[in-house]
Amino acid sequence: MKRIVVHYGELSTKGRNRKLFQQRLADHIRYQTKDLIGPIKIKPWYDFMHIEWEEESYQTMIEILKKIPGITRFEPSYQVAKDIEAIKDQARQLFQALNLKEGDSFKVVAKRSDKTFAYDSYDIQRIVGGDLDDHFAELNVSLNHPDYVLTVSIHQGDYAYLSLDSYQGMQGLPYGSSGKGMLMLSGGFDSPIAGYLMIRRGMELEMVHFSSPPYTSPQALEKAKKLTAQLSKYAMPITFHAVPFARIQEAIRDQVHENESMTVMRRIMLRITEALMHQQKGQAIINGESLGQVASQTLTSMQVINEVTSTPILRPLIATDKNDIIKLAEEIGTYDLSNQPYEDCCTVFAPRSPHTKPKLAVIEDQEAKLDLESLIEEALANVQTTVIDPAYLLKEQQEFSDLL
Ligand code: ATP
Ligand code: MG
Repeated sequence: MKRIVVHYGELSTKGRNRKLFQQRLADHIRYQTKDLIGPIKIKPWYDFMHIEWEEESYQTMIEILKKIPGITRFEPSYQVAKDIEAIKDQARQLFQALNLKEGDSFKVVAKRSDKTFAYDSYDIQRIVGGDLDDHFAELNVSLNHPDYVLTVSIHQGDYAYLSLDSYQGMQGLPYGSSGKGMLMLSGGFDSPIAGYLMIRRGMELEMVHFSSPPYTSPQALEKAKKLTAQLSKYAMPITFHAVPFARIQEAIRDQVHENESMTVMRRIMLRITEALMHQQKGQAIINGESLGQVASQTLTSMQVINEVTSTPILRPLIATDKNDIIKLAEEIGTYDLSNQPYEDCCTVFAPRSPHTKPKLAVIEDQEAKLDLESLIEEALANVQTTVIDPAYLLKEQQEFSDLL
């Protein structure tokens, strides 16, 4: 039997919602392990849970857990009888398996909530630490900067648990525990990162992507779908809505003054996204805007664009510099996809000099030239919705090898 203890720091402060949060986390862990690990057992405690399984390696489980939001840290953990000799014995076995070098240092941290156990935390640390110190000549005790920390946990129940390695989790909250939002996903660097940050914060996402064939290429749409597949590695399968936008962009090009066209276009995108949100029972819209990055991302622009809706628009990147966005894109595996050259619908129709300070009255005048209602209705009627999971990334490889 293999076992990992999962800690969920912030979760344990959620009072009556804690059970619900634990449930979401357990569901996500079950979902992500179902193919690679097989059946697992999950035992929730107050601020941690045990995951147990039989066959698959620790490494496989560790890689899965690193991509699940709501976990602060996790530790492979060894179960022994609640008996000081058994604990000493297991501790020796764990250190035996390490490649210890002369001068390596360690400490023992004991956590005891079972007050019926004969030794208190201090005794356990002293006894187990002393025993290791005696057995391994190359090891020294270091309380401040140890190379290894052995944790001995003695809680209710029949067993004691020992752990030596600790891994950082994604942090955040369990997927789906913070409601559902619609991510406006382009093919750029920013919006996928905005999506990642909301996933990490426990928000379930659906994607809304505007594409304008024949002005935009099929590869541009593919790119947005692959970004969705990459993000779904940290989530569950994600619903993706492709909104046909060419008719609207043509109407804007033909009827709206060029300098106002970008503002009008974004206001329409927002109206359509909001309509999809109501349809899908979402509660927020998320975009990848970062203050001052481009003309549509000045405060004045955002105000005028935002004016079409009272839905909360979440902008997780508003205060983030491009460098930091790029760094995160590399870390979570969206960089290479975003870096592909296919143009998206905003760039294809980009005006030469968009207003950075649009005036609401002027924009409303321009918009009045369009038959907004029927344009939006038509776009909504032709939305293509698919559900995307990480397997989508293998699709092309598969098609390619089928040809060989
Ligand atoms: P990104 O890298 O996310 O494309 P950007 O810096 O290029 O962002 P803009 O092109 O001005 O900025 O887009 C601002 C935001 O508008 C994006 O972050 C995204 O949320 C949304 N957006 C832009 N284009 C599209 C699109 N084709 N479909 C859906 N949303 C879009
Ligand atoms: Mg863009």
